[in-house]
Amino acid sequence: MENKTVVIIGGGIIGSAIGFQLSSLGNKVVIVDKGPFQESCSAHSFAWVNASSKSPIGYHSLCRTSVNKWPTFAKQLGTEVGLNLNGTIKWENSEEGADLARQRVETLQSWNYPVQIVDEDFIKAKDPSINIKNMTFGQYIPNEGHVEPKRVIDACQFKIKENGGEIINSCAVTGFQKDAGSQRITGVISSTGTISCDTVVIAAGTGTQQLADLLDIYIPLLESPGVVAWTDPQPKTLHGIIMSPAINDGTYPGNDEQSEVHIRQRVDGSYQMVNERGGIGNHHEQNDDSQEKAENLLLHLTEYFPQLKTATAIAEPVGYRPMPEDKFPVLGYDESWGNVYISVMHSGVTLAALVGEYVATEINYDVQIPELEEYRPARFKK
Ligand SMILES: Cc1cc2nc3c(=O)[nH]c(=O)nc-3n(C[C@H](O)[C@H](O)[C@H](O)COP(=O)(O)OP(=O)(O)OC[C@H]3O[C@@H](n4cnc5c(N)ncnc54)[C@H](O)[C@@H]3O)c2cc1C
Repeated sequence: MENKTVVIIGGGIIGSAIGFQLSSLGNKVVIVDKGPFQESCSAHSFAWVNASSKSPIGYHSLCRTSVNKWPTFAKQLGTEVGLNLNGTIKWENSEEGADLARQRVETLQSWNYPVQIVDEDFIKAKDPSINIKNMTFGQYIPNEGHVEPKRVIDACQFKIKENGGEIINSCAVTGFQKDAGSQRITGVISSTGTISCDTVVIAAGTGTQQLADLLDIYIPLLESPGVVAWTDPQPKTLHGIIMSPAINDGTYPGNDEQSEVHIRQRVDGSYQMVNERGGIGNHHEQNDDSQEKAENLLLHLTEYFPQLKTATAIAEPVGYRPMPEDKFPVLGYDESWGNVYISVMHSGVTLAALVGEYVATEINYDVQIPELEEYRPARFKK
């Protein structure tokens, strides 16, 4: 087996995780990213590492395997990446919400997923600062949590360089050097010149469709905007991920019985907040990234977390999820260009630990991992 030169287009969490694993196997990795980081999806992620919101069971299992791999992956990176697997706490405040949540817990338990029904005392013991109101149902998922994508990316890229690879930033890929005879790509054409490669990985997030189009590869992505907001650093109080129901009495405009408010706390003490929709596979599509919206979200969260009353809300511009048309990951070689590997997905933070390893295994050893068969790019037809 010969080591390859692999050019990875996209230095978000997916491209960086793949690059780290490929370089650890002895391949020469070159990551090319047009930047800036703030425009990548990884910069906007809520970064919940989970399988509890995933269906059907095959996709749930893929995510679950990745959740389980995160501790090993973080250890391999050898530095603080903000991995917190202290669990997800979620509760409801309506009978309708309780019924839906109970059904989901039953499904997860039938899949032997570690989830338990809990009462207010349990939640208060885990997170004493929470002021729970009108709880109708509570659950705790002990194996899940969150991570800090920027720290993961920096750690992967540091290792790639340590392993002899290269990171080229502020460099947009605009085309491909093709060898029509062999149907292979011999280089990527970028704003700073042509970079030769044996294999190219397109891990360009929402930019993947446009790059694939240049090779007549059809990867349909949906537009999926989402908004998160932050606070300034606060004393450490939160244990893990908290998913609370929105207060739906008209106090906080725009909420209905499916609305939720989620929160997590990073290593530096800042909180990340998001207004979400309950339900499986729901991705709340939002465009309002105003300061007013961020302040309203923070005010809402002070109902449950009084310690946030002195925090300052920080708005963040809309982020765009790389959302394949059927909402499932796209992973594998293109059928016509034999050395072009596509890697694009939503839930890339959850999946990075697994995808990095699986994609590197497929490219390095020229094998096909059976678990990835249903996610191949060839499933999309024009
Ligand atoms: C609001 C929100 C909440 C989310 N919450 C979660 C969550 O809780 N859990 C979870 O698992 N996932 C979540 N996600 C999704 C997750 O963040 C993404 O799936 C993941 O970040 C995708 O990573 P990526 O590396 O594929 O893409 P990106 O991070 O977007 O990286 C792609 C990179 O490619 C580069 N690029 C693009 N085109 C080119 C080009 N032509 N030349 C060179 N470089 C190029 C870009 O500059 C970018 O840096 C969320 C997303 C959003 C928006």
